[in-house]
Amino acid sequence: MALKQSEKLFAAAKKLFPGGVNSPVRAFQSVGGHPLFIARASGAYLTDVDGNNYIDYVGSWGPMIAGHAHPKVVEAIQAAAAQGTSYGAPSPLEMQMAKQLMRQLPSLQRLRMVNSGTEAVMGALRAARGFTGRSKVLKFAGCYHGHADYLLVKAGSGALTHGRPDSLGVPESFVEHTLVAPYNDLAAAEKLARRHRKDLAAIIVEPVVGNMGCVLPKPGFLEGLRKLCDATGALLVFDEVMTGFRVHPGGAQGLFGIRPDLTTLGKVIGGGLPVGAYGGRADAMKCVSPEGGVYQAGTLSGNPVAMAAGLATLKLISTPKAHAKLLRKTERLAKGIAEVAQRARCRVQVPYACGMLSLFFSGNPVENLDDAMASQGALFRRFFHEMLARGVYLPPSPYEAWFVSLAHGENEIAKTLRAAKDSFLTLAQENG
Ligand SMILES: *Cc1c(COP(=O)(O)O)cnc(C)c1O
Repeated sequence: MALKQSEKLFAAAKKLFPGGVNSPVRAFQSVGGHPLFIARASGAYLTDVDGNNYIDYVGSWGPMIAGHAHPKVVEAIQAAAAQGTSYGAPSPLEMQMAKQLMRQLPSLQRLRMVNSGTEAVMGALRAARGFTGRSKVLKFAGCYHGHADYLLVKAGSGALTHGRPDSLGVPESFVEHTLVAPYNDLAAAEKLARRHRKDLAAIIVEPVVGNMGCVLPKPGFLEGLRKLCDATGALLVFDEVMTGFRVHPGGAQGLFGIRPDLTTLGKVIGGGLPVGAYGGRADAMKCVSPEGGVYQAGTLSGNPVAMAAGLATLKLISTPKAHAKLLRKTERLAKGIAEVAQRARCRVQVPYACGMLSLFFSGNPVENLDDAMASQGALFRRFFHEMLARGVYLPPSPYEAWFVSLAHGENEIAKTLRAAKDSFLTLAQENG
């Protein structure tokens, strides 16, 4: 498999962008080698600039849940673009989007469209602070909530991959209101929340984590956070930028039956275009300008082309039937990977939720960041390259989730499992 053009482009890109990329994990630093430059994508497949095809389990890190270049999504984008690409004024499409999101998430009484997940989280937490008049935010180690200064503390994948959980350029005083507890550790969260109860504005959590690999909440963890917020008056914020309309048509909140006070969304709701949203309780959202005093704005927010792409994508994925299908595929893949690993005597964990999964080289269940970090990243790195050579494109990091789309058919999954079997056997031979 020739990779000449990708290698050349990467060398040239390094003179254009820091590290040759516009988002760190794309640089392949944690798996080594150079990234593939993508020429086009269709369905479950990526084609690189050297003409190689790969089954894609990155899916642009979540948005491409209907598969790449789905004809219905492309058509919606073209139709919207022909009517003008941005007005900077209200338009009916953003109302359609809001109504669709509210139908799927009854906890959304009011919402605001923005342009990325990062922005959605910034808006939601500013609203929570404005509404409660409090300063502190409790987050969990290994959860990523975008790159706002005060949230770059134990921030998961991108930061982890580079071995530096905190970022340079963030003054210490900017994170003094950020509290951090281990994921799935309700007692630790309770202790922090009670110590800071008068000043705790919000608890923010990925209800299923995707950003230290896929990590599931233990039974009672999310319920406990709900109770803790009720007891302290802090708002419970579910960051559903990744889980929103992937794990369930009602998001993780629908899957687990827990009503957060505020929710952040992104990825899937933009269908591959830049979109985010935040919303929830009407009393809290009424604090947002121009109705209230919490300022937040956006030149391209509610962009009609992005709304059209998101609506078309939601229509494809948000039926019980489509979700049942996606869950079956994910299950088959996750269980299949665990099985072929076991046969090759590789010790792995393969946690999954609908449409997302992870492969940890570890003999122990992964429940938090320490568990994820204790997995053998070096084995993942070898596995990644074995799979790539067999035409399967996995996330280039042991701490990122794999994403399955509606376009991954039986053929793709069977081919992936064959590649996994051969890759595990190669690893087992190398390691005696
Ligand atoms: C991706 C992600 C974000 C950030 O979204 P961007 O669109 O990349 O800014 C925030 N929270 C979670 C849970 C995410 O997965």
